[in-house]
Amino acid sequence: METLYLSLTGLLALMAVGTFATTLRKPTPYGRHLQGAPVRTLPSRAAWLIFASPEWFAFGGTFLWFTHGADASVAQWTLFALWQAHYTHRAILYPLRMRGHAAGFPLSGVAFGFAFNCLNGWVNAYAVVHAPHLAAAWLGHPAFLAGLVIALAGWAINFHSDTILIRLRADGSTGYKIPRGGLFERVSAANYFGEIVLWCGWALMTCTLAGAAFALFTIGNLAPRALSHHRWYRAHFPDYPRDRKALIPHIL
Ligand code: NDP
Repeated sequence: METLYLSLTGLLALMAVGTFATTLRKPTPYGRHLQGAPVRTLPSRAAWLIFASPEWFAFGGTFLWFTHGADASVAQWTLFALWQAHYTHRAILYPLRMRGHAAGFPLSGVAFGFAFNCLNGWVNAYAVVHAPHLAAAWLGHPAFLAGLVIALAGWAINFHSDTILIRLRADGSTGYKIPRGGLFERVSAANYFGEIVLWCGWALMTCTLAGAAFALFTIGNLAPRALSHHRWYRAHFPDYPRDRKALIPHIL
């Protein structure tokens, strides 16, 4: 089983590099980058619910299977609770809150996302259950505490920034406006910045290969997309703030 875990984690890391290389040239076709493309789609809300939910049940099912629902340390239960809380929001509450694009979400993206999230949920749960340091007194370890602070800060930035975007369509419109407030005053993809910080925090909290591979994938997936969003805003809004960066305040 350990060999399977290491192989799948390696696959995740390879997918991070592959996604970075391909999406740097051409953004994944959903949202604003789908426009005009002749593809079969699902309504955005249903799509998010379907492809994000494996993170919830693959992680939850794997964790409960290996721990028999009881045989885990306080640190492992804490990590379980944090992961499940985040994906209850991402897979169920976020799709209900979002105001999606009329064009919907491509079926191919739903299929890829579903498979990826099954894989990622499984390897991360396996890592949390089987890492010897997490089974011991890990809660007071500086890596856990620093990672927790970083992850919570990233989550708060991501949630606040997503909320700003959702409110841009509170009037029932389906187009795009310039986001204002919060970290959007500094970068075009404030929600992606928060997401990357969140999973870097998780990698530090868990100190597992799977955690590091998922953080790497999140960077490989969202950093090129942030650059594409930034170019898109500049091309579509002549009054777009010139001093706003793409992803990292003052830097990128
Ligand atoms: P986007 O920022 O592209 O879009 C988020 C939502 O806001 C969409 O409904 C989008 O509509 C809408 N929106 C975006 N910009 C504007 C604007 N200027 N005016 C009006 N509405 C706007 O994010 P994603 O859809 O790519 O991701 C959603 C969440 O999921 C984010 O928090 C992200 O961090 C997270 N995520 C995490 C990943 C990971 O690897 N861990 C991977 C992908 C996403 P529309 O769909 O019409 O563009």
